Amino acid sequence: MKIDFPEYASDYSKRLASVSKAFAKQVYDPKGFSSNNQDESEEYGIDPFGELTHASKCFGLKQRFKDRVLIMTSDKCFMNCRHCTRRGLLGKAQVVRTDDELNACVNYVKACPQVRDVLLSGGDILTLSDKEVMRFVDAFAALSQVDIVRVCTRALCTNPGRITDKLAKALARSGKVWVNTQFNCADEVTAEARLAASRLINRGIPVSCQSVLLKGVNDSAPKMIKLLKALSAARIRPYYVFMCDPVAGIERFRVPIEKAREIERRCAESLGGLSMPRFVADIPGAKRKTPI
Ligand code: SF4
Repeated sequence: MKIDFPEYASDYSKRLASVSKAFAKQVYDPKGFSSNNQDESEEYGIDPFGELTHASKCFGLKQRFKDRVLIMTSDKCFMNCRHCTRRGLLGKAQVVRTDDELNACVNYVKACPQVRDVLLSGGDILTLSDKEVMRFVDAFAALSQVDIVRVCTRALCTNPGRITDKLAKALARSGKVWVNTQFNCADEVTAEARLAASRLINRGIPVSCQSVLLKGVNDSAPKMIKLLKALSAARIRPYYVFMCDPVAGIERFRVPIEKAREIERRCAESLGGLSMPRFVADIPGAKRKTPI
C-alpha cells in the first residue's frame, strides 16, 4: 500500500521551523527523502492498532480500551508532522460529518455504559469551525456516563492563534473538556503557545501534553528536561512520552529503548512528579500503555 503524506504546514509552523532546527525536522523531510507516496515497509504497516479494521466499531468510532472511544472528527491537521504515526490513516479513515453519523456514535457510547472518556481526534478537531467543534463536544458531554471529553489537538504548538478566548469559553461550558496536545521540544513552547494554553487553563480546562521521543529532536536528557520544564512553566502537564509507534515511514525518528530508559532515569532524577511524564510504548494488543 502507498503512503500519501505530503509536506504541509501552517504559516505559524513554517515560521517556527525557520528558527528551530528541532521543529524543522518535524516539518520537512530530509533532502532526497520523500515520504509522499512511499511504499509501506515490510516490517511495519500503517495500521498496527487495527483502526481501519477490528477497532472500528461504527462509522468514525474506534475502540481499543473498554473505558474510552476515539471519534474521527477530521482528517486534516495544521501540519503533516513527519513523525506522525497516523500518516497512513489520514485521508483513508472514516470521518464523522453528518448528524446521522454522529448520532450513531452517541448511540454506540450509550450502549456501552463502561465508556466514560471520549477522545475527539482525527486529524485535528480544531481544523473545524467553532460550531462544528461544539457539535461534537456537546453531543458527548450531554451523556451522564461521560466524565471526560478530550479535545485532541496539536494547535497549541502548530497554530496557537486558533485557541481564541471565544473558543476557550465555549469549550469550558460543560465542565467536562480536557485538552490534550503534543509538544516535542522546548523551542515549541513560544509566547504564542503559552498564551493559547493560558486561555484554556484560565477557563478551568486542564491542558496535558503527550510528547513523542524523536531522534534529532528531543533524544537527550538535557533536551527532554528543558522541554518538560518549559511545559510546567506554561502550566501544561506533561503526562506521557511515547516511543515511536511501529508504523511504516518513520524509521529515522526511532530512539533505541536503552537510550530512552537512560533519558527517563535522568529526567526522574532532575524533576518533581508534576513535571515528570510516564515514558511508555503503545504496543498492539496490549491492554494498557506499557511503561518502558
Ligand atoms: S497533529 Fe497529530 S495527527 Fe496531525 S499530523 Fe501531527 S502527529 Fe499526526
